[in-house]
Amino acid sequence: MTTHTIELTTRDGGQLRFECADDQDLLKAAANAHIVLPSQCGQGNCGACYADVTHGDFTLGKHNAAALPVGEAEKGGTLLCCTFPHSDLQVSLPFDHDRILLGEIQIRNAEIAAVDSVGENTLRLELCLTPNEDSGSGAEFEPGQFMELEVPGQDIRRAYSLSNTANWEGRLEFLIRLQPGGLFSTWLWEQAAVGQALIVHGPKGAFGLTESGLRPRWFVAGGTGLAPMLSMLRRMAEFQEPHPARLYFGVNRVEELFCQTELKALQTELPQLEVVFCVWKPDALWQGFRGTPVDALAEDLANTTVLPDIYLCGPPALIDAAEAVTRARGIPDKQVLSERFLPA
Ligand SMILES: Cc1cc2nc3c(=O)[nH]c(=O)nc-3n(C[C@H](O)[C@H](O)[C@H](O)COP(=O)(O)OP(=O)(O)OC[C@H]3O[C@@H](n4cnc5c(N)ncnc54)[C@H](O)[C@@H]3O)c2cc1C
Repeated sequence: MTTHTIELTTRDGGQLRFECADDQDLLKAAANAHIVLPSQCGQGNCGACYADVTHGDFTLGKHNAAALPVGEAEKGGTLLCCTFPHSDLQVSLPFDHDRILLGEIQIRNAEIAAVDSVGENTLRLELCLTPNEDSGSGAEFEPGQFMELEVPGQDIRRAYSLSNTANWEGRLEFLIRLQPGGLFSTWLWEQAAVGQALIVHGPKGAFGLTESGLRPRWFVAGGTGLAPMLSMLRRMAEFQEPHPARLYFGVNRVEELFCQTELKALQTELPQLEVVFCVWKPDALWQGFRGTPVDALAEDLANTTVLPDIYLCGPPALIDAAEAVTRARGIPDKQVLSERFLPA
C-alpha cells in the first residue's frame, strides 16, 4: 500500500493537506484526518462531493454518470467519494473554506418545539437543540446548509435544509414536503408531536451565499427548495446586505403555496427583495406569474444587462432546466450555485 499527499485548495484560496492510501477514497481519507468535506450519499450517486483534480493521477471508481456534469470528467472533474489516488494530487474545491468542518460532524439531541401544516403536503418543523458541553445551547450553521434528521427508532437519516439562521437559543427550522409513503414523512405526519425527541446530524453542505461584490442575487426555488433561500435571505436581512435580491418561488398549484406571510415580513426587513410567486398550473383567479420559476427566470434574464449570481434549489429537473437557461444567457458556471433535493 502506498500513501499519497493530497492538497486541497478552496474557492477562496484556503489550503489543506492530508494523506491518502491508494486503496482509500479521498472523502474518507479526509474525514480520517478530521477534514469533513461537503458530501451526501458517499456512493457516487449525488454529485455533492464534486471537485477538480488539477494535478496528479487517480482512478474514478464506480459512480453514477449523471452525478458528474457533462464533459467535466475529461478535464479532471471527479467525485471525491470514489476517487482513488495513484500519485500526490492537487485538488480544487468549488466552495469556500468555511464549508469544511475541521473535526467531526456533530450529533445532537433535540426536541420538537412546533410542527405545523403550512401548505398542502408541506409542514414546518421547529426543533430546539438540547444544550451540550461543546456547543452550549447554540445552533451554529451557515445559511444554505442542511441537517440530517434520524427517523426515530431506526438507524436511518433524511436530509433537510435549514430555513432559519444561526442563533443562541438552539432553534432549527425546516420546511418539509411530505413524500407519499416516505419513512420520515409518515412518522412526521402520523406521530410527531411537540416535546418529542429527535437526533440531528450536522450541519452539512456547501450550498450558501458567495461574496462577489454587490452583484445582484437571484434565488430560484421549487417547493420546499424555498427553505435554504429563506435562510440566506434572512441572513442578508440580519446583516443589512445591500445586494439587489430577487426570489422566484414556484409551485404546481395555488393551494401548494406557503410562507407568503413570512416572505412579506422579510420584504419589510430587506426592502430591495422582489418576490415572484410562480404557479405552473394556476386557476383562472391567479394574478401572479403563470409558469415555472425557470420560465420567469428566463424572461427576466433576457431583459437584464448585469448578470446576477444565481442560487437554485429544489427538484433536480428544475435545477437542470435553470442551468440550461443560465448557460444559454452566458452566466459563468461559477456564478450559479445549486442544491438538489434528491430522494434518500
Ligand atoms: C441536501 C438535501 C437537502 C434537502 N432538503 C429538503 C428540505 O428542506 N425539504 C424537503 O422537503 N426535502 C428536502 N430534501 C429531500 C428529502 O431529503 C427527501 O425527499 C427524503 O427522501 C424524504 O424522506 P422520506 O423518508 O419522507 O421519504 P423516503 O422514504 O426517502 O421516500 C419515499 C418515496 O418517495 C420518493 N421520494 C422521496 N423524496 C423525493 C423527492 N425529493 N422527490 C421525488 N421523490 C421522492 C422516494 O423515491 C420513495 O419512492 C433534501 C434532500 C437533500 C439531498
